[in-house]
Amino acid sequence: MLEKNQFINAEITGITSEGNGVCRADGMAVFVSDTAVGDVCRIKIVKVLKNYAYGIIDEIITPSPDRIIPDCPVYKKCGGCIFRHISYEAECRIKNDIVSDAFKRIGGLNPEFEDFIKADKISRYRNKAQYPLAVIDGKAVCGFFAERSHRVIPVTDCILQPEIFHDILETVLEYINSHKISVYSESTNTGIMRHIYIRQGTYSSEIMLCLVVRKDISRQLAGLCRNITKKFPDIKSIVMNINSEKTNVIMGKKCIILFGNDTISDTMCGNKIEISPLSFYQVNTVQAEKIYRKALEFADPSSDDIIVDLYCGAGTIGLSMAHNVKKIIGVEIIPEAVENAHKNSLVNNIENAEFYCGDAGKVFKKLNITPDIIIIDPPRKGCTPETVRTIAETEPKKIVMISCNPATAARDAKIFNEFGYEVTKVCGADFFPRTRHVECVVLMSRVEK
Ligand code: SAH
Repeated sequence: MLEKNQFINAEITGITSEGNGVCRADGMAVFVSDTAVGDVCRIKIVKVLKNYAYGIIDEIITPSPDRIIPDCPVYKKCGGCIFRHISYEAECRIKNDIVSDAFKRIGGLNPEFEDFIKADKISRYRNKAQYPLAVIDGKAVCGFFAERSHRVIPVTDCILQPEIFHDILETVLEYINSHKISVYSESTNTGIMRHIYIRQGTYSSEIMLCLVVRKDISRQLAGLCRNITKKFPDIKSIVMNINSEKTNVIMGKKCIILFGNDTISDTMCGNKIEISPLSFYQVNTVQAEKIYRKALEFADPSSDDIIVDLYCGAGTIGLSMAHNVKKIIGVEIIPEAVENAHKNSLVNNIENAEFYCGDAGKVFKKLNITPDIIIIDPPRKGCTPETVRTIAETEPKKIVMISCNPATAARDAKIFNEFGYEVTKVCGADFFPRTRHVECVVLMSRVEK
């Protein structure tokens, strides 16, 4: 039996979905952070539980061939990246295993696993960032929260974000500091500036700057709007979002336009897409296009098929398939996103798409239609059991699920399987290189009775 403060020598043989290395000692799994598969280490045991233990590296005796030197000054301080100490090849291997393990172990399924979709770009690939503010040494700073905390680690040049975000942040911070605009404090619910949120269209370069504040300070921000739009002509929209609640939810419901349009536009799968600040929009545009193409390949629709696109956001998946099918029907819970989806179909002259607002399962049930194919792209928590039942009971010939959480995807796939769907193909994809996140797309086909 392992004991706290004991030292062991062991080789790391796997990595968990949280990014911890795993080795075995005394018949127990020991989880060790900041390790790589193949590291032989002297490990100090820091916590022993009934079936497993936690350790920390005391010394790396033989480093893993996967190891590289991390290239970020705040690596492991901010809660973002977890794979900067290993090669991208090794990261993709781990992510591919996370996807297949989930379907085998959680789902009890044995689908065909297609080649993992890697990213071409492993830095500066994001189109969106949200930075909380804090006061350090009397000055407003912004950055990211340290892992599992609300302590801000100041960073303005995160290498996952476009370089221009750094310059914009510096300009906003300088303005906030010189105009003595106060910074919001979560503990006391006082102060004004809560978050700086920036989005940039990957293809269009159009930028939306959104300032999340506790109360309306439009007059105080007028000078900033004038200066910053002169300095950065790609800024097409400045929005003040008001969030007066004592909450850790970033965005409030009310948006006030301070400059330009209420949306920015970008291109996705050849369609022009308008996005509001409150709408979900895939954060890695290029990788999203790849997974949408995979979803189309899996769906393989014929021209007289009706496709339902549940959790459709601004309509991007359905619209990317509209030319291949008879009709697209999208359902999404955020009204602004549904509005975007309507507008996006008009702008792209797509006449065979309809969008409805509300809970995916409930609205779909009410529509009382029998589509040929259903696409689902739920949030991390997956579908509710009722939604899975509603979808399965309409008996589409295929269900294609896109998911940002292999664990809930595998759980839901297992239920679809029990409802008579064979889980035939799964393809993992990397939208967020260097971080713990991994996506997958799943094809489920109705077994003929
Ligand atoms: N398919 C879109 C969005 C995927 S993200 C795209 O690729 O861009 C998941 C979406 O589900 C978000 O837009 C979120 O607002 C929406 N959503 C969350 N819960 C929902 C529910 N219960 N019913 C319908 N939509 C929901």
